[in-house]
Amino acid sequence: MLNYDIQFLKGVGPKKAKQLNKLNIYSIEDLLNYFPIKYEDRQKISAINDLKDLSEESKVLLKIKLYENPKKSSLKKNMSIIKAVGRDDTGFISLTFFNQDFLMDKLNIFDEFYVFGKVKLSFGKFEMTNPEIENVVNDHKVGKIMPIYGLTYGLSNNELTKLTSLAIKTYFDKIEDIIPNEIMLKYKLISRKNAIRYLHFPIDNRKYSVAKKTIAFEKLLIMQIGLLSIKNNLKTDLPGIEFNDDTLSKALLKCLPYELTNAQKKVISEIKEDMKLNKPMNRLVQGDVGSGKTIVAFYAMLIAVKSNYQTSMMAPTEILAMQHYEALIELINKLNINVNVAFLSGSTKAKEKREILFNLENGNIDIIIGTHALIEDKVIFKNIGLVVTDEQHRFGVRQRAMLSNKGKNPDLLVMTATPIPRTLALMFYGDLDISIIDEMPPNRQVIQTSIIKGNEKQEAYDFIKENIIQGRQCYIVAPLVEESENLEADSAEEIFEELKSSQFVKFNLGLLHGKMKNSEKEIVMKDFYDGKINVLISTTVIEVGVNVPNAVIMLVLNAERFGLAQLHQLRGRVGRGKHQSYCILVNESKSKNSKDRMNILKNTNNGFLIAEEDLRLRGPGDFFGTRQSGLSKYEIKSIISNVEVVKEVQLLSKQIIQENPNLEGEDYINFKKEILNLFQDENIIFN
Ligand code: ADP
Ligand code: MG
Repeated sequence: MLNYDIQFLKGVGPKKAKQLNKLNIYSIEDLLNYFPIKYEDRQKISAINDLKDLSEESKVLLKIKLYENPKKSSLKKNMSIIKAVGRDDTGFISLTFFNQDFLMDKLNIFDEFYVFGKVKLSFGKFEMTNPEIENVVNDHKVGKIMPIYGLTYGLSNNELTKLTSLAIKTYFDKIEDIIPNEIMLKYKLISRKNAIRYLHFPIDNRKYSVAKKTIAFEKLLIMQIGLLSIKNNLKTDLPGIEFNDDTLSKALLKCLPYELTNAQKKVISEIKEDMKLNKPMNRLVQGDVGSGKTIVAFYAMLIAVKSNYQTSMMAPTEILAMQHYEALIELINKLNINVNVAFLSGSTKAKEKREILFNLENGNIDIIIGTHALIEDKVIFKNIGLVVTDEQHRFGVRQRAMLSNKGKNPDLLVMTATPIPRTLALMFYGDLDISIIDEMPPNRQVIQTSIIKGNEKQEAYDFIKENIIQGRQCYIVAPLVEESENLEADSAEEIFEELKSSQFVKFNLGLLHGKMKNSEKEIVMKDFYDGKINVLISTTVIEVGVNVPNAVIMLVLNAERFGLAQLHQLRGRVGRGKHQSYCILVNESKSKNSKDRMNILKNTNNGFLIAEEDLRLRGPGDFFGTRQSGLSKYEIKSIISNVEVVKEVQLLSKQIIQENPNLEGEDYINFKKEILNLFQDENIIFN
């Protein structure tokens, strides 16, 4: 019943349903699992006199009477203003309402009101602008903790709150537990239905915490057991290839104009050990942007080539793949060896493609570098020994499996630039062994990071213009919009239109966002790469691996909305050439937490440190980008803020998989279903 279409819920018609769909809510179940992104605490009524030490961020609840009759005036056409003064036993507060004429009837001087909003102190007086105001006899929200949801156009928080409340009431008894009872008892979890209820409508902090733990625990256990069983299935008694000869790879190092860092050497030796074994390698190499992962991959690839096996390297974009291809060709020419390297992408011409496929199948091509085109069924290898995928930060288990299936248990190497704390890495990449390049090559230019306020943007734009005139290029990243990729694209488009016709009329602007087709994106990126675009306005789609050495400024609007790890990734897009580069973060928030978070970025360049700090401050911590991990923002957040739970779950998962690898028994029926559901694309096999 929970999988009923959302239109089964009273009050949801086709139009409402469409709006809900935008938030990925299609069924009753989806709605129940659409948890608040934060809460408003209306439990406590504050006294006006105590407001002094409140931070500007949080809203407060006051119970007031009016001190005098409210005054209405008109400022301009279409703009009215109501001013009133409220009082309680301890003090006074001015209230200002814009364009809410209907309040004149409501603001009766003999009544008592609740007002809820942010308080400002100006010239020694307390002020609230446009607070929510409700007559004491009517207000149902007081005394409660109210949910705040991620929204989309046309859907208000009130509406969503009502729908969720109704869904919980109507379907409460249909919400079944997923985790086996025994485990729930042992780890002091509560039933799923109560967890869902308390997460939407917390009654007190204790109930909220245990509800949060329950849901995080559940999701983690599903993920972890899913990943472990994939790992089991990948590894169990499959013989791999034993590679022993790295003479060619060693020669490759001699051609480089630099020495490997110790971190690179360490990771290479871990890879070599794996490749020697007669079971398939499943290794993830994590290394900050610019830490030199590519050469590590080339090293492994030449080991395979030296033993007469083929190898493939897949990158997420055509540009990136082309960059790798050109770099490898250059090295191979220097080495002066007879190794055939080919390039394949979606835009490879049909005739050329046929030739490449033919030569791959008969073994004439040793190395192929390309995009997702490499996964296609038509791509057949004679004997592939090593599969490399670059910059793939999602669990893409299925993609890995598809590539692996093109050979007889080839070795697998995954590269990612997302630095995440180790516990979380284990969680998300549970099916892989992990190597870390935790050191940058020497003499890297340090990108100058500055943090500015919203009203200082003009200076940033002027600075960009100066740099364009000197021949450089720049990025401007549009704000992250909570929960909606569509809105993000809109916002990037808006900023693009605005800047094109104001600040940057004289220059060429490009626009890049996730709603564009891949082919369109590639064209824009190519133009930027070729210098035809001066400023690229973009959403976070540029985060992944783009390398344009001539780009020297990264300006991020509303930087406070981004996770630190993500900002760090964005910063890594500049500072790739010989010119001094800059990262400018526009922080529109006044909260201390935001300032602290921004300062971390200013003060360090170490991605792992940044990730740890992000975790500590418990910000949005968007390590993966919601869209890539298959988890909702809420889930990622709650997982990140429950690191102790992560450890508990890891131990428990290993134990379960050992004792009951196929999850037999009635207790596991729902649980198994959930795993198959989350990994539906991923080839999970339970016997
Ligand atoms: P990423 O880890 O982001 O993929 P790359 O492999 O693209 O980084 O390397 C970034 C740059 O650093 C490249 O130009 C590469 O040639 C250079 N590089 C890699 N390793 C070293 C090193 N040990 N010393 C100096 N430069 C290096
Ligand atoms: Mg790279």
